[in-house]
Amino acid sequence: MRVGSVETHVIRDGEFWSDGGGVFGLVPRVLWEKFIQADSLNRVPMALNCLLIVSEGLRILVDTGYGDKLSPKRSEQLALNRGGGIVAGLAKHGLEPEDIDIVINTHLHSDHCGGNSKWCDGILKPTFPNATYWVQRMEWAAALFPNERTRATYLSENFSPVEEQLRLLDGDTRLTSEVRCVVTRGHTQAHQSVIIESQGQYAIYMGEVAPLTINLERLAWIAAFDVEPLESLETRRRVRDWVRDHQATLFFNHDARCSVGRLCYEDECYHVEPLVLD
Ligand SMILES: [Zn+2]
Repeated sequence: MRVGSVETHVIRDGEFWSDGGGVFGLVPRVLWEKFIQADSLNRVPMALNCLLIVSEGLRILVDTGYGDKLSPKRSEQLALNRGGGIVAGLAKHGLEPEDIDIVINTHLHSDHCGGNSKWCDGILKPTFPNATYWVQRMEWAAALFPNERTRATYLSENFSPVEEQLRLLDGDTRLTSEVRCVVTRGHTQAHQSVIIESQGQYAIYMGEVAPLTINLERLAWIAAFDVEPLESLETRRRVRDWVRDHQATLFFNHDARCSVGRLCYEDECYHVEPLVLD
């Protein structure tokens, strides 16, 4: 899909199943199960939608999924099905890992940066040897110094191997004249999203600001994973206003049914119209 002169492709690192209580937070199951069906373990299907952006000759990859380093036990808990993963997904577009110039991590939870690194002959190495990895400085600090609630998802094997290729960001940062990172606080303190603007067209990879389409339709449906839920609410409101005003194309990182959509506003109600049905 093109956004002005920018080329974009959703690259899926597979699907997994996540506890419905985590995904929908305070929302009772009787409400959310009208929107999505849970399995017998109360889990709901989630996608790992990463995004390839080509702008001004730079090949940019946003998020890297779970990758292939999870233990068999953890993979089974998640019912993780990676298919070929992101490396195979990139190959479909004629790209090798060496061709990626920039990796942006929206944040460093394990389902967003697991593919940053891989095992090579018993040594952990960056999956993308020529890339600079762009991470917010405050997110890096949160990952290096986790607390009891966050330590299970901040796994150093995902981010320490890329330390020498790291670019730490202090807030909103431009990559090209068409692509920029913006801090969208809530899910984590320094979570970031990626905005594309080119030739009067707009798009946003929201990350966890709205992982599913329903999150833009119902602002108060906030995941239990978010460390600052009330910040999430205000960030989401701000992002949704921006999306409406700019008629921006939406990339959903975890929605297994709709990876790309458009926001419609009618009779004071918001609705996401899928552009790509998965
Ligand atoms: Zn996630």
